[in-house]
Amino acid sequence: MKKLQQIYEGKAKKVYATDDADLVLVEYKDDATAFNGLKKGTIAGKGVINNKVTNHMMRMLEKEGVPTHYVEELSDRETLVRKVSIVPLEVIIRNISAGSFAKRYGVVEGITFAEPTIEFSYKNDDLGDPLINAYHAVALGLATWDEIETIKKYAFRVNDFMKKYLIELGIRLVDFKLEFGKTSDGTIVLADEISPDTCRFWDKDTNEKLDKDRFRRDLGGVEDAYQEIMRRLMGN
Ligand code: UDP
Repeated sequence: MKKLQQIYEGKAKKVYATDDADLVLVEYKDDATAFNGLKKGTIAGKGVINNKVTNHMMRMLEKEGVPTHYVEELSDRETLVRKVSIVPLEVIIRNISAGSFAKRYGVVEGITFAEPTIEFSYKNDDLGDPLINAYHAVALGLATWDEIETIKKYAFRVNDFMKKYLIELGIRLVDFKLEFGKTSDGTIVLADEISPDTCRFWDKDTNEKLDKDRFRRDLGGVEDAYQEIMRRLMGN
């Protein structure tokens, strides 16, 4: 497998073509952004951690019946994935109130819901990723009803698995964002990443934040929090 030209650079990752038209190579960076790119910085070692944590999760999720784009980890920062076209929806699952939910509805963070919630944002930086409902997503041609049903089913399956898996490691899964892609034959698969950049993780006993909120809110100990997540999941 040959790494060819860069085809895309996002906020946290670069994507390269390979000599296989169905596969691309993802390279994780240490760059961090928040508030739609307004806040910028670096988190030393983040790329390595997010690469490994994402792949660890994706491998387990495949076994749980969630198809993913994951193919093979190539190095500390590089992973081979199936080439997909990303469905331009951020899929957010919440178990506990936090972040934009707490702000929008004027409630404190930390309310545990009786059932998980799901919402979608339209992936569009110019518009600031606005909240969108399924009807509007279908009207805009972002996804079909069938695709939205499949995405919901997989997103809740990811939540059911991760919640149980993480609590055993002393981690409360507060909320997280998923992205899905479509392969060339139209199959919906889980794509992008699952990491402290895209999930809220709170320590089960102390509720200490072990995720990107430490960077967003200038809480300090950002690198240590990412390291701690990697240590609990993978033991190093
Ligand atoms: N999230 C993300 N990327 C985004 C927006 C949110 O990965 O562009 C994740 C975020 O880390 C959190 C969850 O989605 O785990 C819910 O985020 P929320 O809507 O509360 O937004 P925020 O408070 O991060 O603006």
